[in-house]
Amino acid sequence: MFVILLLILIVCEFSALGKQSSNPDKNDTRNGEVILAYEGFEKFLNSEHTWENYQKYVLNPYPAVNKLHEKYEECNLINKQRFTEQVISISESKYRKILENIDDQKFCSMYDSAVQRCNIALSPKKEIDVCFFLSPIKDCQMLPVNGRNTILISIEYKLEDIPLIIVHEYAHCLHYQYKPLEEPKSLSDWIIDEGIASYFPRIVNENASIYEGLWMMPKPAVDWCVKNERLILDTIWHDLNKSGLDIEKKYICGGSGFANPPEGFPEKTGYYIGYRIIEEQLKEKSLREICSMDSDELIAESQFFNPANFQTTDSIKYSYYRIKADKIDLKSVNSFPQKIVRIISKQSPYEIEIRNQSTNLPAERFNSIKTHRYNKYANYPKDIALYLESTELIESESPEISHITDSLTNDIVYTYDFIKAALNLVSSSVKYDSDLAREISAGKHCTQSALETLHFKKGTCSEYTNLFLALTRNAGIPGRFVIGRILLPDGNQIYHAWAECYIEDIGWMPVEVQNGNSWIPDWGIKLFAGKDFKDCNAALPDIQANIEKIDK
Ligand SMILES: [Zn+2]
Repeated sequence: MFVILLLILIVCEFSALGKQSSNPDKNDTRNGEVILAYEGFEKFLNSEHTWENYQKYVLNPYPAVNKLHEKYEECNLINKQRFTEQVISISESKYRKILENIDDQKFCSMYDSAVQRCNIALSPKKEIDVCFFLSPIKDCQMLPVNGRNTILISIEYKLEDIPLIIVHEYAHCLHYQYKPLEEPKSLSDWIIDEGIASYFPRIVNENASIYEGLWMMPKPAVDWCVKNERLILDTIWHDLNKSGLDIEKKYICGGSGFANPPEGFPEKTGYYIGYRIIEEQLKEKSLREICSMDSDELIAESQFFNPANFQTTDSIKYSYYRIKADKIDLKSVNSFPQKIVRIISKQSPYEIEIRNQSTNLPAERFNSIKTHRYNKYANYPKDIALYLESTELIESESPEISHITDSLTNDIVYTYDFIKAALNLVSSSVKYDSDLAREISAGKHCTQSALETLHFKKGTCSEYTNLFLALTRNAGIPGRFVIGRILLPDGNQIYHAWAECYIEDIGWMPVEVQNGNSWIPDWGIKLFAGKDFKDCNAALPDIQANIEKIDK
């Protein structure tokens, strides 16, 4: 009897195993559930249009739809009272028309075929549900609902766009599973997340065009971006580490009256830049690698915002500027890559003209920078060695800094590679702090030190620069703290801090630490340089600088 029982047990084990292996992986076909939540909306249309019925039929049976409504309320995208009124006085004929043209089976098969193609590109770690809904909210997005990734798609979208929307949102879910993004998302996070989602239609269908990837932008807007890519990059680079609704409205959000793009820009240019970065990075990395990477690191590695990458040139071209300021440091203003060409007033208020060559680095010079051999113990003249010293704000001799430097100098052959590694590390591990930025601009706060920045993991351009300079000085590379003014393509001017690294036989090399770029565009104008912020002796409210580009 016992033997028979044992045999039965063994047979059951085997058949269970057999079933598992012969059953095709569920992920190959459908992944997760398809929820047809618009059926609830149809029930609501067929009942008396009251808020109670809306809750009863549209919200309560569908946690995902309920969650979307809650999110809209939290973000102030709907006002509860006004929304209730809107629901009660809904245009029945508009929604009847949408419902008349739908076919449940079609939605299911659209989802199955999209998922199948997506899963070949990158296999999901967890099941992903989809919820087709109808409500006065017309939107599509990915929401975690009861611990499951759920895609919500309003069926108010054009039927022919829905497969593209599924692929886009599904890609967001996959990205999220490989690299959960911390809230609040920085602009870099937005760009990479939307870039992956927007490029996905091309990954699953090689015949798809850029317009299909960027279906959320009108065609002329995409064409504008293609023509003005450099302008978008030059505008966006300074905002990459920032987060918050203002930044989203500038480059990510759509909707007239809500989106607030820079003057002359169409909406959603962040989607386009993200799409381009992913397109380029896929030539070097696998999709899996891209989806698992930190956004800042990916952007820094892409070199997309690095003007030197675009503008190495055979002959040096200069840009000319007229500077008017109450306070500047003439010696710093007159140091490479800048040169004073005319002095109109050499005391406060100063008025001078300079030329700047930084974006137009000859390839030869760039190559000699890149191939300079790293030597931690190089001897520098006194006026350069000064910039190896530890200061109150840049504690380059601290053991914590040494510890990081040691890990970065492993296997380093070229000085430039160390600089790049330090730029990547600092720009990706420190988050931008808008509150501190406001205090520093108002002269209320000095900058936080390198060690404080290392501990708090947040700061402004000055804090990024402090930490970076602590690392380079510890590694034996002299570095200066620079305060300057940035002329943004939209006409605004802002104060900014960056660093300059000294490379023997070559000279000072400016680097943009906040965004991890190894070059500063020629519209970044240096006004002060010193061992640290204090050594620059430049309280921002005293500077009162205004800079104008001039023709020469
Ligand atoms: Zn998206």
